[in-house]
Amino acid sequence: MLQKALFWFTDDLRLQDNLPLSALCQNYADIAFVYVINPADFTPHNYQHKAIGQHRFRCIYQSLQDLNQQLNALGHSLIILHGDPSREILQFVQHNDIACIARSEPIGVYEQRSWQHIKSLLSQLQENNSAPVEFISCWNHTLFDADQIDINPKTMRSFSSFRKHVEGDEIAVNMPSASLELLPQLQTSSTNVSNTGVSLEKLAEQYLSQPLKQAFIRGGEQSAKEHVTEYFASTAPSSYKQTRNRLDGWDSSTKFSPFLALGNISPRQIWQQLKDYENINGANESTYWIGFELLWREYFQWAALEQQAQLFAFKGLAKQKPKTSFYPERFKKWCEGNTPYPLVNACMKELEATGFMSNRGRQIVASCLVHELAIDWRFGAAYFQQQLIDYDVASNWGNWQYIAGVGKDPRGGRQFNINKQTALHDAKGEFIAKWHGHTQHALPLDSVDYVDWPVKVEE
Ligand SMILES: Cc1cc2nc3c(=O)[nH]c(=O)nc-3n(C[C@H](O)[C@H](O)[C@H](O)COP(=O)(O)OP(=O)(O)OC[C@H]3O[C@@H](n4cnc5c(N)ncnc54)[C@H](O)[C@@H]3O)c2cc1C
Repeated sequence: MLQKALFWFTDDLRLQDNLPLSALCQNYADIAFVYVINPADFTPHNYQHKAIGQHRFRCIYQSLQDLNQQLNALGHSLIILHGDPSREILQFVQHNDIACIARSEPIGVYEQRSWQHIKSLLSQLQENNSAPVEFISCWNHTLFDADQIDINPKTMRSFSSFRKHVEGDEIAVNMPSASLELLPQLQTSSTNVSNTGVSLEKLAEQYLSQPLKQAFIRGGEQSAKEHVTEYFASTAPSSYKQTRNRLDGWDSSTKFSPFLALGNISPRQIWQQLKDYENINGANESTYWIGFELLWREYFQWAALEQQAQLFAFKGLAKQKPKTSFYPERFKKWCEGNTPYPLVNACMKELEATGFMSNRGRQIVASCLVHELAIDWRFGAAYFQQQLIDYDVASNWGNWQYIAGVGKDPRGGRQFNINKQTALHDAKGEFIAKWHGHTQHALPLDSVDYVDWPVKVEE
């Protein structure tokens, strides 16, 4: 009898260039393809916010539909489980005599712990009875493999030292592998498992409560391929450096981030297309800069691995806690786009409506939360986690720490002058007008005024 294996999809919602999937397909023909939806992600327990908001879940849902269609064409289907991921995977393995589990290696510390927990529980069970379960996991979310990068305090001290390490030592990006080509072998032996999971459509009904206002992108591997191909077929890459800081415009930056975060496409696939573009059209400062930004992403990934739980700590890597607090009213106004700063309001309203915000917008609103409103940065990071379609644990919390001055930044925090940024990036006020950044209710910022402050009682 064929041994059964399980492929656990996480932030790698694709069939192409999926390294653990390729590795699994080389050794197993009877594979169950599984994705777990965790109900806890939809309850507000992350600094009062949900881990997954409407926009991102819609993109995840579309990616899962796309995966299922691709698997169906090959004689398979995607099994959706609903519950705590560790418990669901453990039960599935035990009930279906799974001989091997494969997945992408997680970058986030809590996902790592959960993966370790599963491995150790299954190893304990094996000691008592059945044959050992095999585990396959590889780095699948990065340009490089862990053994290519020298993760030590010197190389990871700053982005510049990391980039010099990568460029100076000429560390090569591995070319994409072809997972999909390995899958057709499986057509004859669709997996026979006792648990066929729950209906994705029913879960979508349950968790997608708000009607779609504005779709920024459509999630899924096919959509990612089309977008990246279209981008590199245009002339936009050759002027990226001049346009990348704009607040608006589809072509002003690559818009690769949602697809990278969902794992609809791998950074290696994008890197290869960038090199192909340079070979055909010529390399210039702009095409170099796209690679440079992908290296920023890469740096944050390995830095998150190095920092572990410190990535989420108020003090981060700093010696002292930031001088911020938590003002619920200010925070609410910031989230709703109802602050005294029209540019900040416009960016926050765009985020609420689309799940996306430009890089410059993110820097400005994050700086405003930390420096103007003096609010604990972790609330801002958690709100971004809920709202962003491109939420990525390493890039989000790493960038927030950077702005708050508690991250890997030798120069301390970043404060953006909002008036100056408005004059530079929205001189005619078009972006502010588009997103209704001028509000009437912004002031006063706090409803407590001086008469409400406790009076010092003379003794
Ligand atoms: C406070 C804050 C929070 C952020 N949270 C996220 C997040 O959750 N997920 C996310 O992908 N990016 C995050 N970023 C980084 C950046 O804003 C987005 O990657 C970028 O705006 C996405 O648009 P794009 O794909 O058009 O980027 P482009 O300008 O076209 O850049 C190309 C690619 O390079 C990478 N990149 C560019 N800038 C950065 C950066 N500063 N840090 C890491 N990677 C970068 C992205 O993968 C991006 O797709 C955050 C930035 C800030 C300041």
